Amino acid sequence: MKQLLSLLTILLAVCVHAQDELTSQLYKTYDTYKETSIGKRRIKHADIQPLIQKTAANPKFKVQKVGESIQGRDLNLISIGSGDINIFLWSQMHGDEPTATQAIFDIINFLDAPEFKTEKEEILSKLKLHFLPMLNPDGAEVYTRRNALGIDINRDALRLQSPEGRTLKRIRDSLDADFGFNLHDQSTYYNAERTEKPATISYLATAYNYEKDINELRANAMKVIVYMDKIIQNYAPGQVGRYSDDFEPRAFGDNIAKWGTSLILIESGGYTNDPEKQEIRKLNYVSILSALYTIAKGTYKDIPIEDYEKIPRNDRKLFDLKIENVTYELLGNDYTLDLGIFNHEIDLEDHEQFYYRGSVGDQGDLSTFYGYKTFDAKGYKIVPPKVAKVDRITNAMDLLKNGVAYVKTEIPEKSRFVHLPLMLVHEEFEMKDFSIRPGINPTFFLKKDGILTHAVINGFLIDLSQPLDGQNTGNGLIFR
Ligand SMILES: [Zn+2]
Repeated sequence: MKQLLSLLTILLAVCVHAQDELTSQLYKTYDTYKETSIGKRRIKHADIQPLIQKTAANPKFKVQKVGESIQGRDLNLISIGSGDINIFLWSQMHGDEPTATQAIFDIINFLDAPEFKTEKEEILSKLKLHFLPMLNPDGAEVYTRRNALGIDINRDALRLQSPEGRTLKRIRDSLDADFGFNLHDQSTYYNAERTEKPATISYLATAYNYEKDINELRANAMKVIVYMDKIIQNYAPGQVGRYSDDFEPRAFGDNIAKWGTSLILIESGGYTNDPEKQEIRKLNYVSILSALYTIAKGTYKDIPIEDYEKIPRNDRKLFDLKIENVTYELLGNDYTLDLGIFNHEIDLEDHEQFYYRGSVGDQGDLSTFYGYKTFDAKGYKIVPPKVAKVDRITNAMDLLKNGVAYVKTEIPEKSRFVHLPLMLVHEEFEMKDFSIRPGINPTFFLKKDGILTHAVINGFLIDLSQPLDGQNTGNGLIFR
């Protein structure tokens, strides 16, 4: 008996090792399968149609039109595999959450390619995969969460007013899927609880009742999540969060879990210096494919569900820039402040490009908060910006070194921002009383020992002792 047990342990270890090996190979070879035609977040229905059509023409896949959005955009289901276990993966129920849509097309490229034959045979003989990418194409068109009706599809699982929601329910029911992957993006300001690490990926084995009971279906989702968490730890250590499992009776994930599917929520969050979330997309690809493999092999079943609770909770304590311990003078007295600054994305009319507009999110004692970028400004004092008039801007750094942030100059027509760390203003512009408070645009200077050392322009920190090239200076704004 003892011998048998040790043999089993060895077999299990070999198995686990083989899977780790697969994961690392998936990570290394990712670029071979990456669908490069969709490399930015603001993708639209038209961008994925050539990929849908290419897949439809490929005999390995079955592509069916399964519905239409309110504005008449096709919803397609892409299926592959001959196994008994049905896996349903849908993405972008919220129009501005495209990361997993991109990863789905990477996975489809992978499944079509000749490599990894053994692993793919394992997956496709045991599983039947069904992908529904971009469930909310009308929202994607204008890069917004809600659909054309202005509702959150993820609160429509009971009332089923949206054709997108009805399609999702109908497909779930017709497949009676064993596993569901509910693929979203979350705010980049989520962190793993009590750490400065962004929650690059967050998981949830969604609850099916207010009591948050754990039945076999939910336990299976937890086990697969523990497996995926271990994988992400190799590439983004500490950057996984556990999404709140509060039951939401109107949401799809919660109802799909109730209707009898092991429901895995994946939320793509933030990652340092990855504004287009392409590294996060890659982590989706690697962890979803690895999850499919462990489901096909059945190896997830041995994972203890206790490990699920060990994944840190999601928290929302991140800023883009945190300035600590800065001295701020008000009415003749000095105060010590921390500043938490956001770089909000503002879409241009085409919803294909965006610029940044900064704001102070909070100020005061922010010692329990974190920043993607943190600057300890102990001994530095906030200095209000100056306005200057110039015919042409020839050297932005010279202006900054003189404490100038607002420039009266010829303003390019229509544009609302400028690729310079300066604010362009009209002839009559006057600086209002300068004060730091939540909501204002963070544009000021920092002084230490009588010298201006840094500028903060539209929420971006600029080191005045370094060339502008090579610094992330974001953009300035134009005030007409
Ligand atoms: Zn979402």
